[in-house]
Amino acid sequence: MGQLVGVRVPSWGARAGASLVLLTVAVAVVAAVGALLGPRVVLGDGDSRYVLYTLSVLLAAGACLCRAAATRVERSAWALLGCALLLWGLGNVYSLMWLRQLDTYPLFSWGDVAWLAWYPLVGAALVLLLRARISAVPRNLWLDGVVVGCATGAVYAVVVIGGYLPDDAESVRGVDLLAEFSYPAGDIVLLAMVTSVLAVHGWRLHGGWGWLVAGLAGSVMIDGAYLSAQTSDRILFGAWPVVAVMLARAAWQPVKRVEQVQVTGWRMFAAPACCALVVLAVLLHAVYGDSNPIAIGLVTVSYLALMVRVGLLFADVRRVQARLEAARAAADQLSRTDPLTGAANRRAFGEAFDGVPRDESGTGILLIDIDHFKQINDRYGHDAGDAVIVAVTRRMAAAVRRDDVVGRWGGEEFCVLLGAVPDAGVLELVAEKVRTAVCGEPVPLPDGRQVDVTVSVGAVLLDQVTTLDFAITAADEQLYAAKRGGRNQVRTTAAHG
Ligand code: GH3
Ligand code: MG
Ligand code: MG
Repeated sequence: MGQLVGVRVPSWGARAGASLVLLTVAVAVVAAVGALLGPRVVLGDGDSRYVLYTLSVLLAAGACLCRAAATRVERSAWALLGCALLLWGLGNVYSLMWLRQLDTYPLFSWGDVAWLAWYPLVGAALVLLLRARISAVPRNLWLDGVVVGCATGAVYAVVVIGGYLPDDAESVRGVDLLAEFSYPAGDIVLLAMVTSVLAVHGWRLHGGWGWLVAGLAGSVMIDGAYLSAQTSDRILFGAWPVVAVMLARAAWQPVKRVEQVQVTGWRMFAAPACCALVVLAVLLHAVYGDSNPIAIGLVTVSYLALMVRVGLLFADVRRVQARLEAARAAADQLSRTDPLTGAANRRAFGEAFDGVPRDESGTGILLIDIDHFKQINDRYGHDAGDAVIVAVTRRMAAAVRRDDVVGRWGGEEFCVLLGAVPDAGVLELVAEKVRTAVCGEPVPLPDGRQVDVTVSVGAVLLDQVTTLDFAITAADEQLYAAKRGGRNQVRTTAAHG
């Protein structure tokens, strides 16, 4: 067993794959040397270069088909790519054996059918590979794929088709138009797909795409140069084998499945920004240079997708803002509550105290301490002690009004802020209610046992503006008196700050 593709393949497959890749490289080197030296050498004449080029394509087809045969992983994608290369090579053979012997080279032939099959087959292979290799792509990236794909296609249309439109399109027969335009159209779609692959991977080529993307992009470039008559046969036949090498190598490149593409930083912004510039450039070119309907159609789609992308970005920003706001509110809430009981902590209690309007009705402060709490801790354990603290807090909160604030002053000591207390008699009544609410029935402990709990209460009535310190000191004196008086009782006073 070999390990050439990141998945286990039988050793015959690995060996055959490696040999085919190496053979393709060897043929490509010979073809490049032949192209460089030209007709001066035996392998440099036109026919030999064409044969070498065709051979490299057939070898690359072999590498892809071998990959498909060797492992089930991504089998259909590589079979499709292998078939596409095979048909390309067979088209060349047909052209070499038959078409090139004719007096006039036909505009459309069976060769074209074989060559044009390249586009749907490769397109389908790309879709299959994307589906197999990547499980989650954020929708922003899919849109980036459309934006970038259409923008790149538009540039291609301007550069390649720009100088390629027949002067008098109406005089050309439909089949000729098909022959003329199916190649550039296929190249535009393929280029759009290849750039989309880059976009949906967040502009990083994870997981074994490098050779494939480079090979397909190279094929489109060379085709473009050929179609716009920017290159000679010599360069063409030297360059195609390089593409064949890349595609053969791609079949045997280790693959990795990408679970979730993450795009951060400048990558999030760069692609849409560049595409906006491309859209502008193509439109300006249409205004001041040649008008190219295909390019304009493509940049229109790119522009519309960009607008959707901006809308989505805005929605994302809103969502993040809402999440931040919720997190801030939660943090604020946390910073004001006692983690054990959920009651107000000192800070929140102080703020509540400062916020109480001090008018003709008085304000009551209760300072409450659990009696003999150390014994509860000692006898039943610290967890039981905690459970008692929580239960006492609940009982006190249930005994006072909803607007009154129950806080944990520290340890097993609590404070209660009572608004609108008319006189000391009412304060005493409320303090008694709190005390009896706590000792009314035993507190159940986590281990199933029960414990009787009592509290001592120091109550103070404030009839004018004063500080919390002053109020607590006064309440503490009353609490101390209640403890000294035998515990489980209330002591009340009115304090005049
Ligand atoms: P007294 O009636 O005089 O108040 O007697 P006491 O035993 O309750 O004495 P004191 O109020 O000084 O006891 C405080 C004890 O409360 C000491 C400390 O170990 C315990 N304690 C303070 N905070 C916590 C807590 O969060 N959980 C538990 N389980 N115990 C606590
Ligand atoms: Mg105590
Ligand atoms: Mg205490």
